[in-house]
Amino acid sequence: MAVNLKTKTVATRENRLGSITGYSGDLYDLAERSCCGSVKNRERCFSQSSTCLSGCAIGPLSGIRDAAIVYHAPAGCCAGVPGSTVLARQLATRIGKTNENMIVGSDLNEQDTVFGAIEALRNIIYTVRENYHPKAIFIASSCVSGVIGEDVDSLSDELQEEFGIPVVPIHCEGFKSRIWASGFDIGDHAVMSAIVKPPVEKKPMIVFKNFFESHRPQITEIFAELGVYPQFVYMNSTVEELSHLSEALATVCICGTLGTYLGNALEEQYGVPYIRTLNPSGIVGFETWLRKIGEVIGKTQEAETYIARERVIYVPQIEELAKQLAGLTAVIGMGPGYTYEVARVLQELGIKVVWAAAWHYDYQYDKNTESDKPDTPPSLDYLKAHSPHNIPLSVADQQNFEVLNILNTHKPDLYFSRHPGSTVWAIKQGVAALYVADEYMMFGYKGTLSFAKSILDTVRNRSFEKNLAAHVKLPYTQWWYQQDNKTMLKAEDA
Ligand code: SF4
Repeated sequence: MAVNLKTKTVATRENRLGSITGYSGDLYDLAERSCCGSVKNRERCFSQSSTCLSGCAIGPLSGIRDAAIVYHAPAGCCAGVPGSTVLARQLATRIGKTNENMIVGSDLNEQDTVFGAIEALRNIIYTVRENYHPKAIFIASSCVSGVIGEDVDSLSDELQEEFGIPVVPIHCEGFKSRIWASGFDIGDHAVMSAIVKPPVEKKPMIVFKNFFESHRPQITEIFAELGVYPQFVYMNSTVEELSHLSEALATVCICGTLGTYLGNALEEQYGVPYIRTLNPSGIVGFETWLRKIGEVIGKTQEAETYIARERVIYVPQIEELAKQLAGLTAVIGMGPGYTYEVARVLQELGIKVVWAAAWHYDYQYDKNTESDKPDTPPSLDYLKAHSPHNIPLSVADQQNFEVLNILNTHKPDLYFSRHPGSTVWAIKQGVAALYVADEYMMFGYKGTLSFAKSILDTVRNRSFEKNLAAHVKLPYTQWWYQQDNKTMLKAEDA
């Protein structure tokens, strides 16, 4: 679907990419049905609560060091704000910078839901402007301001003219979408529509969309060998830097789910190529990713030189560890940008993936430049072509009760999740679990080696999960554990 930067809202992933949160089947079935467009969402009879998309819109934008976010919401919606703020400040300090970004809640109350609070919001924005002097202001909506119809669009237009800086609405009402990754797109849409300017001159720069940039020094070194530098977004970026994104040579991302909207929008609006390939996890992923970057920016030889030099150092060490990991079994539960990538890395390490759960699935992944048609995620295509066996798969928006059923059925050696709220339940059940918190945990050769060592540590000492499980009573009955995951969801047309 074409990006329309003239509108203040962006279509949800359900509407834009046909994304789903309910599926149970297997790798071959999902890949096959994605290609013919027959994947349909299956509803649940019962659902646990999930995550609000506003965190995925506001959290990344809080990394912009000189912007401010005013969240027109009740205090409860702001529960995640302290975490985002502290993290952004710490990550700025780590690179010797200061993050002045403010997230201010408008503290909507019951009276406001009846009479509205747009004037109060205006006054809050004046105060933010006066005290913090941001270079851009994002006005974020919530369920409450959305339901009562607060006109934040008109207020943004008015204040933008008055202040002479971007004042941008971000429509991240939580009820809009079950898929919290829609929040990433909403944040990107705001940046693209109000901050990024048309290019003046090309720069030897690659836009790198990521979360917490823990491998900033390593990536800067790798890119320097290709004669370019990374512009990380949004953590530790500035409004001025973002205004020049259109001057980049290419856009890459650490996670396809995170980067798809920005990458496609920059390509569509300004011709900046979006590199759609495996993410740089594991050996195959990293080499494929680096080669593709080299090809797009005309630095193929430099990429090959790097690969040849580094792989002789690390690949033998990784292979040695893989011998010790061979034969282990694993269940994965993560966002779709990582599920199929991690499955590939585990297979590289000789681990058998007995179940892979993704928190949602974008079955029209975004357009493929070669065919100009919707495409499946490259990581799913790769698995379909190379996995030594078919993998049972499910799609569930972090429904932990389903994860525990799967773990009880398959009794894997390991559970891998990128969300602590899921990892801890596996450990309580007595399953050794590795929390894949950092998006760079298996980045490149070094990351893959360190990831393999972490897995070995996790399986060698199982006393923590054994002790915890022995002292925790889980709320699940035998009846629940006997249910078959494939039959838990309603039929597609029910
Ligand atoms: S925006 Fe809606 S879903 Fe999100 S935290 Fe607030 S009330 Fe909950």
